[in-house]
Amino acid sequence: MTDKTRRLTIKCPRCGVLTDYYGNEHRPFCSERCRLIDLGCWAEEEYRIAGRPVPQESDSPT
Ligand SMILES: [Zn+2]
Repeated sequence: MTDKTRRLTIKCPRCGVLTDYYGNEHRPFCSERCRLIDLGCWAEEEYRIAGRPVPQESDSPT
């Protein structure tokens, strides 16, 4: 049984709602809102990591 009208749907990683994969410019998110929220979270996390003091070892093994 083949279904040519079958659409590929993906789950929005932000809110979990099922959204179309094709024709969705905000994929894998369901909307621009979810995309921006997720990007914001990522940026925040990256900022936290970047702001963390990283121990620098200047010792170089011979
Ligand atoms: Zn969403």
